[in-house]
This record gives sequence, structure tokens and C-alpha cells, in this order.
Amino acid sequence: MQLIAQKEAAEFVKTGAKEFRQNSEVRLTPGAKDIFTEAGVKVVFDSTAAPASAPAATATPGHYTPDDVRLFASKEATEIKEQICDIGRRIWAREYCDGNGGNISARLGPDRFICTPTGVSKGFMKPDMMCMVDGKGKQLGGTWKRSSEITTHMAIFHSTPEAVSVCHAHPCHAGAFAIKGMAPPPRLIPELEVFVGTVAYTPYKTPGSAEIAAEIFPLAPKHQSILMGNHGVICWGKSVEDAYFKMEITDAYCRTVILAQSIPGAASIPCDKLPELLNIKKTLGLPDDRYDLKPAGLCEVDPWQQMCGSHGCSSPVTPFNPMTNGAASSDAEIEALVQKLTDEIVANLSKK
Ligand SMILES: [Zn+2]
Repeated sequence: MQLIAQKEAAEFVKTGAKEFRQNSEVRLTPGAKDIFTEAGVKVVFDSTAAPASAPAATATPGHYTPDDVRLFASKEATEIKEQICDIGRRIWAREYCDGNGGNISARLGPDRFICTPTGVSKGFMKPDMMCMVDGKGKQLGGTWKRSSEITTHMAIFHSTPEAVSVCHAHPCHAGAFAIKGMAPPPRLIPELEVFVGTVAYTPYKTPGSAEIAAEIFPLAPKHQSILMGNHGVICWGKSVEDAYFKMEITDAYCRTVILAQSIPGAASIPCDKLPELLNIKKTLGLPDDRYDLKPAGLCEVDPWQQMCGSHGCSSPVTPFNPMTNGAASSDAEIEALVQKLTDEIVANLSKK
């Protein structure tokens, strides 16, 4: 049970919010009710608004300055809050977040950012749950407690001035690469090459820690999509939707690559066609860590070798057999084994 007395009510009034949401875990003292009535704050009962993990609307009332209260209630802030809620619903609908996972943020003004609160499903957020923080992650607006991973977002905002919004979630296909300790190989689908670029990978560090912020900081200027090892994906963009698009493209790419592993063959975008894609990207004003590379350096490694060489894909893969409902016939298995042995013998002979 959380008791809101006069002191807490007065601090809440200072935030400028006009609605106090409470669930059955929260009780107001008569004095607190009077303060809300005098200040014109409406008390609303909402069982979904305050889950136990983010208790009530009084998590961090803080002492916000009048300027911050005005900024947080401005038209620009309202638009960003609505965009973040919209993208939260899309992240949840695509199963990119689990439980309370994921967080979204966006620049509002100099040293001011709007971000999602901690402890809520990203699919069911309301604009009045949003928080405002400064560049150090200190909360300066909002009645819900800000995300604990905001320092990771700040690493991107500080190293990458073009980043307007940051989106972090746990999509399964990109996450599968992240728990294998590798980024997906490049040069397989133009969509990723042009609109995202090389996906970066950084080894596991505790989520929200200074260590992970230090890893992300130097990567962000050249990578709009970064896999955080054994954790998830963080992307930045020129708007809230753009940051989300980077995540959607990254996860769709990873999903296609994972599916493709079970199909024989190994095609990739030819080396000499890659500069054309990078030129398109340059005209769109998108950053890429490969602009300075010479054509030969663009594709030193075959993507399928990169994928399977060090991580042991089962290759050659047994073809799908409709007669056995997908299970390999013994003939096909033997044929594949013979082919594999032959390839290895030829490769060894050619080394000598
Ligand atoms: Zn996370």
C-alpha cells in the first residue's frame, strides 16, 4: 500500500500534470485530496495505469523547474510522446519486446529528451506515462520513473548529433545472432545495405551500465543498428519512426538469413554492385562505415563463409524431401556426406 500525503501531493502538483492516476494499491490522505482539488488535479482510478513494478503516478515527482514543466507540456513534447506510444504499440505487435522490455527516447530540445518509463509493457503506454530527462539521464519531467537503460540511449545521443531518436527492444531473430556472439553477415539484401548498413555487435555488458554505454558510444556514429551481445538490439534514426524502421529492417534481415541457412546454395550481392547501393545511400545522407573503403575491401569475406565458417552451419544442407515430409532420406544424407568429403579432399589437395 502506498500512502500519498500532503507532501507527496504538493510535489506532484509541481510537475504540472493535471491528472493523478491511482490503482487499488494507492491511498490519498484527506489533506492530499484537498491539495489536488485546489490545484485542479483530477484523481482518476485506473487499475492498468500503475502496475506493481512501477508503483503509482508518484514514482519520481521531483522538483521540476517551471521551464521544464512548460517544455514537458508543450506541443512538441506532446507530439513526441504520442509518436513513442505509437511505436511502442508497433514494437509490441511485432513481438519485439517481452514483458516490460524495450525502451524508446527522442530529443526534445537542448539537453532535454523524452523517454519511456520503466516497468511497463511498450504496447500499452499512454502519453502521460512518458518522462523527460537531461543528457545525464536525470529525470526532469513526468510522474513515472524513467527507463533504467536511458544511459545507453545517451551514449548514442552524445556521440551522434544526427540521432534524433533511439529505439531498443529484444526482437527474436536479431536476438538470435546477439546470443551467438555475432552480427549478421552483410551483402545479402539491398534493403539492409542502403537503409541500415553494417550491423555492429558488441559483447555482453550489464544492461543500463556505464560499461555498455562506453561500448555503444564509439559505434553509433557509423552504425544505426547495434546488437548488444546476449541482450537485444539498439537502433537510432532521424525520427522515432525512423529509429524503429532500422530495428524492423534489422530483424527482418536476420530472420531471412536464418531461414536461408536451411536452403542449399550461397548467393550474395556481387562485389561490383555494392558501390551502386552505397552511392544511393550517400545521396540519401545516411551514414555508413564503408564509404572510405576501396571496392576490394567492401567484400573481402563471403557472407555465407562468415556466417557458417566460424559457427558451424550444417553444410552442405540436406534438401527438403516432400516424399518423407521434410525428413532426409538416407540416400540424400549419404550423397551429401560423400559430397562434403570430396570437397574436403579436393581442398586439401589444392593446398599442397
Ligand atoms: Zn533491453
